[in-house]
Amino acid sequence: MSTSWADSVSASENAAPASSNISALPRPTRSTYVPPHLRNKPPTSSEPPASSRESTEPASGPRWGSGSRPDFGRGQGYGSGGRSGSGWNNRSGGWDRREREVNPFGDDVGAEQPVAEEENTGINFDAYEDIPVETSGENVPPAVNTFAEIDLGEALNLNIRRCKYVKPTPVQRHAIPISIGGRDLMACAQTGSGKTAAFCFPIISGIMREQYVQRPRGSRTVYPLALILAPTRELSSQIHVEAKKFSYQTGVKVVVAYGGAPINQQLRELERGVDILVATPGRLVDLLERARVSLQMIRYLALDEADRMLDMGFEPQIRKIVQQMDMPPPGMRQTMLFSATFPKEIQRLASDFLANYIFLAVGRVGSSTDLIVQRVEFVHESDKRSHLMDLLHAQVANGVHGKQALTLVFVETKKGADALEHWLYMNGFPATTIHGDRTQQRTSIEII
Ligand code: AMP
Repeated sequence: MSTSWADSVSASENAAPASSNISALPRPTRSTYVPPHLRNKPPTSSEPPASSRESTEPASGPRWGSGSRPDFGRGQGYGSGGRSGSGWNNRSGGWDRREREVNPFGDDVGAEQPVAEEENTGINFDAYEDIPVETSGENVPPAVNTFAEIDLGEALNLNIRRCKYVKPTPVQRHAIPISIGGRDLMACAQTGSGKTAAFCFPIISGIMREQYVQRPRGSRTVYPLALILAPTRELSSQIHVEAKKFSYQTGVKVVVAYGGAPINQQLRELERGVDILVATPGRLVDLLERARVSLQMIRYLALDEADRMLDMGFEPQIRKIVQQMDMPPPGMRQTMLFSATFPKEIQRLASDFLANYIFLAVGRVGSSTDLIVQRVEFVHESDKRSHLMDLLHAQVANGVHGKQALTLVFVETKKGADALEHWLYMNGFPATTIHGDRTQQRTSIEII
């Protein structure tokens, strides 16, 4: 028998970290369901395209980089560790975008709403308790056990509560104090370990702490203060979504630029101002060559899934971006290199890109399957659906952390995916598909 989708379902029962990003998303509701035959059609007039839903900031709003506003740069407070009270720069003096900012938490978590103290169940903390953590380097800042031990700033702390992050994950416990302490970091951490927050929090908090100085002005070039490089469009969009939550109402602006999508909209978004640029290497090289982005003011550089970027052949582009354009050299910027594995190529990158760095390994380097129990079950073709139904009902009954688990089902064909999805939906399980005949926009609307 070829690999059956029932196998994949069994494997997902144990809240695998690989699927935890998806499991943290709100469950789709029935109202978002679009039958397969109606998908990938142009939106009707009553349904605005995803891009226009997302972009509710008025085009006529204040623009950055055009010389019309004070700019930010490194000031006295840079890299000096946490500060509180008046030391925090809420950045509202430069550009008050608070009224215009789309609430990334949805309508139910507004600025004035009290934040519910419930826990995000995207991470299986119990499984992480025994995970070995190793640090090496000179004067490693001590790890923390709570977010309260690190002074990240009031606005960011509020967003951490809105995300329902009650305690830091192991990588966050170590990486955040290291980065807040101004040190470069090479971190080996699994996907699903909470690494996005581990590099976003210090960047956002560091930019919030910056004092006002001028950024270059007078051209269409924009000067981000932080760059986050990721291998794929999917990962960069995911980081962008997370970073926008973390930076909500901090005055820190996050923009994403990836290939395979029209560049014009990304250029327009960049022109509105950018503090943190999340980008894939190819698209960023394009923007740099067009002189629409300059890296001359970069204070923070994060590379996520660096091993995957090298596997995908991005090393020349990454080296061009980091070493051959106008980015400040190691020591003049703070660099965080995240990778699941630490092969020779990554070690070389670390020694070229980082200065006096701290090495952090969380869990067993290179392993992402330790927490997944794999069970292979032989199921006859004609019994597959009823077997799947049994598994799903068992999940509903058992739940994970008191909540219903989410499930990933892999099938062989796009048609098979659509048929299964329709059948699941008809049987009371909200479902959606991801495959090559579907646009990214439609799929993300349905998932979110
Ligand atoms: P990442 O490894 O950054 O992709 O994160 C994996 C998942 O864990 C995401 O859904 C995050 O929202 C969630 N997460 C990250 N940090 C925490 C935390 N401290 N507490 C609870 N959930 C978290």
